[in-house]
Amino acid sequence: MKQTALYIHIPFCKHKCIYCDFYSIITTDNIKPFLSALKKEIETYSKEFSKDRIITSIFFGGGTPSLMDADYLNEILNQINKFFTVADDVETTIETNPGTISFEKLKEFKNIGFNRISIGVQSFNEDELKFLTRIHSKDAAVKTVEDANNAGFKNISIDLIFNLPKQTKEIWINNLKQAVSLPITHLSAYSLILERGTILNKMVLDGKVTLHDSDYDAGLYSFTIDFLTGQGFKQYEVSNFCKDGFECRHNNAYWHYQDYLSFGTAAHSFVNGKRWWNFSSLKKYISEINNYGSAVRNYEVLTKEQKLNEYVMLSLRSSGLKKNEFREKFGGEWLKEKEGYFSKLIENNFAENNSQSIKLTKHGYAVCDEILKNLL
Ligand code: SF4
Repeated sequence: MKQTALYIHIPFCKHKCIYCDFYSIITTDNIKPFLSALKKEIETYSKEFSKDRIITSIFFGGGTPSLMDADYLNEILNQINKFFTVADDVETTIETNPGTISFEKLKEFKNIGFNRISIGVQSFNEDELKFLTRIHSKDAAVKTVEDANNAGFKNISIDLIFNLPKQTKEIWINNLKQAVSLPITHLSAYSLILERGTILNKMVLDGKVTLHDSDYDAGLYSFTIDFLTGQGFKQYEVSNFCKDGFECRHNNAYWHYQDYLSFGTAAHSFVNGKRWWNFSSLKKYISEINNYGSAVRNYEVLTKEQKLNEYVMLSLRSSGLKKNEFREKFGGEWLKEKEGYFSKLIENNFAENNSQSIKLTKHGYAVCDEILKNLL
């Protein structure tokens, strides 16, 4: 049975954050038609992909899945279980926003089968939360993590953003200290990315907000690695840290170049070297599903070179390039060609090499984009 990850995109949010470019909408119209469409889409794809596959992780992202009632999410989980073979130990994650959740609702989420929770904290600093136009306070963020733990979640991840405008090193250190004082097993620390089309991007272009330079960003990043590894977290991807045994199985499926199926608006799937993606517009998604059972906007079949590039990029950003696996997939030529460059990386402590894999060190992670540019 081929291991496959499954992603569900719930597009609804309570409010649009200024930095966000994910597909999300703030109306609650169409919540029911979306559920029917999603169920139909799951059934459609099961005809082609349920045979010989086992679902090892399910991830509800968005948008804000935690806005939905547990019954609503349960219908989706039931549909997945009805039409696919799901592993007994499946990792089932729900993205959750503080400000949309109560202790009772967290217990309901646990009861319907979620065993991992990813909480969009972003910051524990009130000014930063206001700046990001998040709907929660620091206290709500702390309470959500504690409530999740008390509701029975033993695998809790939080997201934090660093390098925010006006973020001093002290503010960032306090964010990290607050994070590790809580019962979390996983932390994603992302540097602020300015996405085109967002309100934040316009604020920067209009000169209303000034961003730090890249050296400042690199300093915060390097501090983050030292701090979190010093607190018993392992870095297993450029932006992701976890306690032993708590790597995110779902993210690893992406980073280890495994197959994944995704359902819902704007969802991207990747199976056997073919990638396809759905319409983003909710109305278009629903009408396409109702008419045809699927809502594919476009697709691409990756060339060998594209696959090699993606494989190298994803593996070096995460747990390293496994040499045997690489040779099986792409032959030995490319590795030979790059031997000199890899040796230089190793000499300068940007990478480590053993008989099985080549892996970036923390210095390598810090300049990962540059390394990939030179390699690919
Ligand atoms: S809650 Fe998340 S998905 Fe929704 S607008 Fe904010 S950042 Fe985007």
